[in-house]
Amino acid sequence: MNNRETRQAGNQSDQPSQPNQPNKRPKDKRRFSFYWIYAILFAVLIGLQFYGRDTITPTEKIDQGKFIELLKNSEVERIDLVNKQDAEVYLNQKGLSKHFPDVKATEKGTTTTPSYTYKIGDHARFEEMVEEAQQGFEKPVYISNVSRNNWAAGLLEWIIPFGLLIVFWIILMRGMGRGMGGAGSIFNIGKSRAMLYDKNTNVNVTFKDVAGLEEAKVEIMEVVDFLKNPEKYTKLGGKIPKGVLLVGPPGTGKTLLAKSVAGEANVPFFSLSGSDFVEMFVGVGASRVRDLFGNAKSKSPCIIFIDEIDAIGRARGRGAITGGNDERESTLNQLLTEMDGFGTNSGVIVLAATNRADILDKALLRAGRFDRQIYVELPDIVGRKEIFEVHMRNLKLGNDVNLEFLAKQTPGFSGADIANVCNEAALMAARKGKEIIEKQDFLDAVDRIIGGLEKKNKIITAEEKKVIAFHEAGHATTSWLLQYAHPLVKVTIVPRGNSLGAAWYLPEERQITTKEQMYHEMIATLGGRAAEQVVFGQISTGALSDLEKVTKQAFAMVSYYGLDEEIGNLSYYDSTGQQDYSLTKPYSDKTAETIDKRVSVIVEKAYQEAIAILTEHRDGLTQLANKLIEEEVIFGEDLEHIFGKRPWGNSEDEKLKNAASKNAESQPDIEHANA
Ligand code: ADP
Ligand code: ZN
Repeated sequence: MNNRETRQAGNQSDQPSQPNQPNKRPKDKRRFSFYWIYAILFAVLIGLQFYGRDTITPTEKIDQGKFIELLKNSEVERIDLVNKQDAEVYLNQKGLSKHFPDVKATEKGTTTTPSYTYKIGDHARFEEMVEEAQQGFEKPVYISNVSRNNWAAGLLEWIIPFGLLIVFWIILMRGMGRGMGGAGSIFNIGKSRAMLYDKNTNVNVTFKDVAGLEEAKVEIMEVVDFLKNPEKYTKLGGKIPKGVLLVGPPGTGKTLLAKSVAGEANVPFFSLSGSDFVEMFVGVGASRVRDLFGNAKSKSPCIIFIDEIDAIGRARGRGAITGGNDERESTLNQLLTEMDGFGTNSGVIVLAATNRADILDKALLRAGRFDRQIYVELPDIVGRKEIFEVHMRNLKLGNDVNLEFLAKQTPGFSGADIANVCNEAALMAARKGKEIIEKQDFLDAVDRIIGGLEKKNKIITAEEKKVIAFHEAGHATTSWLLQYAHPLVKVTIVPRGNSLGAAWYLPEERQITTKEQMYHEMIATLGGRAAEQVVFGQISTGALSDLEKVTKQAFAMVSYYGLDEEIGNLSYYDSTGQQDYSLTKPYSDKTAETIDKRVSVIVEKAYQEAIAILTEHRDGLTQLANKLIEEEVIFGEDLEHIFGKRPWGNSEDEKLKNAASKNAESQPDIEHANA
């Protein structure tokens, strides 16, 4: 119902992209020497052109007539028949002085290059012709056969396939490099892909940028102190912690907190995600861990931050049947080894973040590893106000923007959501061509973030709208009339995203839930479908998410919380998470049958109760639904107007106050996905 996870996706981009510092190479130098080689080759070629210039004649092509004439005039010194195709004619002294007066002959009496070439037709004919032309000469010129390899062509024949292979190889390596997220070539695959922030990459995140989270800040302040004045602690024989685990839902500012530690302590900060270790090649993860710690030690004192450590830190030995986890396990083992390995006071502190501390391997949480845990919770109303404050610093605000009001409107929002609201509000105001951001822009942004994009053009027939209105009114009515159900904050039937309507409830702050409370919640959840039944005499698919929720709740009551008399005080819940219940159930088939039966009985009973309430208060229900059809949005006050004050006296405002003072607040339930 609450797609918080997916909303996070766009929120992690506050880290400046930055090349891997440790992998930088002095490339320029190498290229420089290559250019020298080219230059020398070029110079040699030019030099050759000039060397022995005066014994070279330009080579001209001639025809048969000219060739025979040269022979008859005894101007030829030598004829080379190359590959039985071309006759190369070298002139003698006489010929040279006649045709090339500028060119001197060498001591062999001729030039280094032929003066003329003549393309012969038939080889035998050519020999005859040469003999004929020199009939009666006392020193005739003979043909010397020369076979000459065309070395250039030969070389090309070799070079081209080789070249292609090399090009192919380079492309392959590049592709791999890119696939790895740009860590360069295959030779860098075992290198850690941590991003390094230090003095040169000024990310000046300090505690000032982290709103709320007071307790977390106090605890983490100590870590800063450890790094700044280690002597203070070591003097007394204390040990500096090696690892601190930040636990909390996504978007609550864990990364931000870690960065601010680095900023406050003014030490280098290696940041990476648990999934960065994982690669399809065996052994890469472990090698990256080694590399990371190697780099860190050389920069100590410093902080390593591993986001989403559950990617590697998941409990070992699970899913053994599926196999293929060896790589992750060896990565984890390497991490454990490294954490054990570095001296306690070597000045490297590992911070890690996760939203699932429960699935982490127990070995990670043992003393000397992540023995310190800091909980980072969703912000309460005060925290939200402060986060708004932080993110509004750079916004141009209208006078009607009230922080307290906005904080009230955003129960259950994480810091990242609020950052998102502020940004979205700015965009909306800009789209409307405004100079300042007004309250309405913020409200629109909140709505948009809660329910996805508001879709005015989603076509809903009048009949459908009526059904949706009664359905939502059914939830509102039942929850209002039941003592232990959560009081309603707001209901809308404006379709947004893929949901047709939504109801916001303000959950009571409670650590334990009684059977009564659970039961009442289930009745309220079924109130939607019950209203359809009572008013129209037929039910629809619109209750899918209600039914899902209720079924899960009833199942939990029966099989986890021991709240059902027939099953008794048994719980089949496994908090260690070591067993894989998808394959084996911890109870017999007979018990399974009983559980199924009891779940169905409980849900049915709740449904009948909802029907009873709505039949009794059908007038109020109809009033409420009509108001919804008219106004599309109704609030708690409207219900109070119709049904009177709740006798149990937990009005909305009181709740808010309570929640604020308790410094904790659960998130609102948002009903309804389109089935
Ligand atoms: P997490 O690591 O817990 O998933 P992040 O630290 O990446 O969350 O938070 C994402 C963004 O949300 C931050 O960059 C910041 O803009 C905003 N944010 C979250 N919590 C806070 C907070 N307490 N104060 C100010 N901004 C916050
Ligand atoms: Zn519903």
